[in-house]
Amino acid sequence: MEKVKTLIIGSGPAGYTAAIYAARADLKPLLYTGMEPGGQLTTTTEVDNFPGYPDGVDGPTMMVELQKQAERFGTEVRIGHVKRVEFSEEVGEVHKAFVDDGTEIHAQSIIISTGATAKYLGLPSEQKLRGGGVSACAVCDGFFYKGQEVAIVGGGDTAAEEATYLANICSKVTMLVRKDKMRASKAMQHRVTNMPNIDLRYNQEIDEVLGSHVVEGLRIFNNQTGDKEEINITGLFIAIGHKPNTEIFNDQLEMDDDGYLITKGKSTKTNIPGVFASGDVQDKEYRQAVTAAGTGCMAALDAERYLNTL
Ligand code: NDP
Repeated sequence: MEKVKTLIIGSGPAGYTAAIYAARADLKPLLYTGMEPGGQLTTTTEVDNFPGYPDGVDGPTMMVELQKQAERFGTEVRIGHVKRVEFSEEVGEVHKAFVDDGTEIHAQSIIISTGATAKYLGLPSEQKLRGGGVSACAVCDGFFYKGQEVAIVGGGDTAAEEATYLANICSKVTMLVRKDKMRASKAMQHRVTNMPNIDLRYNQEIDEVLGSHVVEGLRIFNNQTGDKEEINITGLFIAIGHKPNTEIFNDQLEMDDDGYLITKGKSTKTNIPGVFASGDVQDKEYRQAVTAAGTGCMAALDAERYLNTL
């Protein structure tokens, strides 16, 4: 068993930014990386929209640099997965975290930055071409398809927003919706239908993503008629939702209907004193590296203020 002032769970931009601030505030943070050290950005190629990198940076490099910056101020970074937690509802009581290697951590404060995972269709051809033209983030990767023809799958607000974003960059966007209607809000649907270069197709699903190393096209089918056709595209964007990584907090922290942690007002406070949440695990709307980093900073400041009251 080890005692720490601040335990940070997760190693994306939120976790590392929380670590930088917590370490500089002398909270001597211990950070567990989770199963995917570096988080979602390690599956991205070029990151061009994080301020301070005028020439862009590739996702894995950026995460290594964030880790180094957190370690420079004394963060202890460990590879490991927190598999269970026991939170105390009493102010000042320790919270317990159990790591997969058997370590038990007793922390005065905990910052949760476990992120969210993009959902994919699960087709073998889609998985093979992830990073070769298949992406789950239009804002991250859309720019690489400037002037080209792309497709997007999904009918929710994210798909509608990303289709509109892509339509401003790409020559044509084929939007594939599996039902005969969209789930997106009416306002978002209007934005889609107002873009002349979005070809909105209902009742369409993907049979196969075509291409051996990079995306060259799609074979799609109409799930009402069974009719198949092939379309030529160079980029495929999957926008069918995200799943927040919150299973281990079930029954202990307040979550919304989709499993995202609920934070109070403008803070990162959860319903448990001394437990804070930052990054995509509590944000289904913005989901950007820079917004995650911002809330990581907030969580460290909230933790510091909390510890000062004990
Ligand atoms: P949603 O769960 O709302 O929508 C997912 C969409 O993907 C649905 O159209 C669904 O189809 C489709 N889908 C799911 N699985 C598959 C599959 N295997 N094959 C094909 N299509 C599939 O997720 P979003 O990410 O769009 O939104 C999440 C939340 O965030 C929502 O509450 C949304 O309102 C909110 N949001 C708000 C924004 C804003 O206000 N600006 C921007 C972005 C998100 P079906 O309908 O058939 O189930």
